[in-house]
Amino acid sequence: MTSNSSLTCESLIREASSRIVSDTPRLDAELLLSHVTGLGRTSFRAWPERIVEPAQVEAFEALVTERVAGKPIAYLLGHQEFWSLPLKVSPSTLIPRPDTECLVEVALSLPLPAKARVLDLGTGTGAIALALASEHPDWQVSACDTVDEAVALARENAQALGLCVSVVRSHWFDDLPPGSFDLIVSNPPYIKEGDHHLAEGDVRFEPGSALVSGVDGLDDIREIVTRAPDWLAGNGWLLVEHGYDQAEAVQALFRARGFGSVKSRQDYGQRDRMTLG
Ligand code: GLN
Repeated sequence: MTSNSSLTCESLIREASSRIVSDTPRLDAELLLSHVTGLGRTSFRAWPERIVEPAQVEAFEALVTERVAGKPIAYLLGHQEFWSLPLKVSPSTLIPRPDTECLVEVALSLPLPAKARVLDLGTGTGAIALALASEHPDWQVSACDTVDEAVALARENAQALGLCVSVVRSHWFDDLPPGSFDLIVSNPPYIKEGDHHLAEGDVRFEPGSALVSGVDGLDDIREIVTRAPDWLAGNGWLLVEHGYDQAEAVQALFRARGFGSVKSRQDYGQRDRMTLG
């Protein structure tokens, strides 16, 4: 039972912060309270003694309980920002990561035609495709995903942002309409089966199909690298994200498939996290 005196913004935030186990417990509590009250986070500091309505306290406590159990903040809020775009997320897709913004930066730095034809494989929320479409409205950006919910979500995000991205359901290249692309980009699953990382943090709540890819984590990247040349225009680029210890293996896959200009690029933590060719 919550006593009346504890129904202020500050007391609710303080109590929740003490229970949430994360790198940012206070921020998490503020985001959840902001979500249920519709009040901006700064208002909690400006007016800490403001009383929260009982129904909102109840909704807040329900979210805090889920956060205490480890559920990612993005799933509780239902959205995540990527490339400054507000994206709707759902437990059927990976939560877009800041590191993947580096992939977008690399894609934008490539020498591509003015009306580049671009394909994002395994788009999830649509994050990469939408970021590229937002920067280059003249590009023809397509995206695919094998999960029906992801296809629907990516389409919903495109519509909400007023961005033109065509999203189809396909497992990698299996059901794609014929096409020839100047750039194929992907953040595929690349974690090794049984990796200890899967038992920690947000990934516990994310779909395994978006994370895990065989014993060496490279099953999906192998398939993409092998098949991409049939879908690339002459001088087209393939760009994939991978784990920090996979750059050498991924470069070898690119070279074995006949790609030239193969190189890896770093993420915000200065680790080789993507390879292009
Ligand atoms: N970078 C993510 C993680 O380590 C994994 C993303 C992926 O497999 N595509 O949590």
